[in-house]
Amino acid sequence: MKILVINSGSSSIKYRLFDIEEKSVLAVGIVERIGLETGRIKHAVGQQETARELRIADHGQGLREMNALLTDAEIGVIADPAEITAVGHRVVHGGEKFSQPTRIDAEVIAVIRELIPLAPLHNPANLQGIEVAMQVFSQAAHVAVFDTAFHQTMPPASYRYAIPDNYYTEHGIRVYGFHGTSHAYVAEKAAEHLDQSLSETNVITAHLGNGASITAVKNGQSLDTSMGFSPLAGLIMGTRSGDLDPAVVFYMADKFGMSPEEINQTLNKKSGLLGICGSNDARDILERQAAGDEQAKLALEMYTWRIKKYIGAYTAALGRVDALVFTAGIGENSAYIRQQSCAGLENLGIALDANKNNAPGNSVAEIQTNDSRVKILVIPTNEELRIAVETLKVLQEKNVQQFPV
Ligand code: AMP
Repeated sequence: MKILVINSGSSSIKYRLFDIEEKSVLAVGIVERIGLETGRIKHAVGQQETARELRIADHGQGLREMNALLTDAEIGVIADPAEITAVGHRVVHGGEKFSQPTRIDAEVIAVIRELIPLAPLHNPANLQGIEVAMQVFSQAAHVAVFDTAFHQTMPPASYRYAIPDNYYTEHGIRVYGFHGTSHAYVAEKAAEHLDQSLSETNVITAHLGNGASITAVKNGQSLDTSMGFSPLAGLIMGTRSGDLDPAVVFYMADKFGMSPEEINQTLNKKSGLLGICGSNDARDILERQAAGDEQAKLALEMYTWRIKKYIGAYTAALGRVDALVFTAGIGENSAYIRQQSCAGLENLGIALDANKNNAPGNSVAEIQTNDSRVKILVIPTNEELRIAVETLKVLQEKNVQQFPV
């Protein structure tokens, strides 16, 4: 069975076509610069890469161009779009309405639309992708997989903010948490690796990419997470500040006359590693630090200090930690950042083995010392695969007759 996964942003569409029984990727690509003067499509089938430059007026054209590549006589991987049984869509915000992947119909679209005020940058682009894909792949089942859904198990003590009650009850201001697909994927992989049932597994999952968040997973469910009402909270990120005293915002407004939008841009786009040392690329910062650059050194100290504090807090929250997991671009690749984030945590049972940490390999790897109480794992995340698998589960649960598998 073929399942297409779509991650639609405001000017790009990332896609991946799976043969889900084989868990193999048939094709992967990205449509970029939609709506701009010149657009671009990069498409890969195995090692064979195709790149095209052309104006792509809108998401509809983007998906039709993708479809043309998927069904191309020479490089195509399917003969007909009808071969795609289902399309799994990444949707950033599911609010409190969606705690599970959900088959998309008119009602679901209406609810995703209602949630736009909570995710003004992401949900409109996700919706656009859904609506266009439902036309282009009209015969397929469409399923929404929400970034927030995994965190819907958090208890009120984790998700409520200590502000007047009505801001939550009437306006939905609370912690939602994000990167749920990735946290859920690596937590499952960790349980599998530990040979434990997920429902009895406690892990701390650190997703350290350009965006970054950390989650305390208790008995397989999200108990607490570092991102909040929006993806701005928590860890220091590429360009986002992470946790900040809210009084800084009033001070910026009063002292510098900045508008809410200017402050929003500053904290989301000009802060984090970029704000501290002028770069948001961890590789670049690590190189600069190694060459003695003080700004880069400070940025990395702040970055790993924040991670370490969250690991400590979540160890307290969980009581027993079976594993600490590092994932995403930085978590999977930077031995230095893993080492600094774990330094001094031996009293919490977290002890990293320097040699293993330096060469973790490219599947699930253990990098703790022999006497570390907590396993420390490096697990490559695969959000697209999880979206495809979740999409399949929705079909199996609700449409067994319509979509035998
Ligand atoms: P992601 O958002 O998961 O793609 O992660 C992007 C981040 O991962 C960027 O800050 C990259 O610099 C970082 N990254 C990717 N590869 C490496 C590497 N080999 N060493 C350190 N950081 C890396």
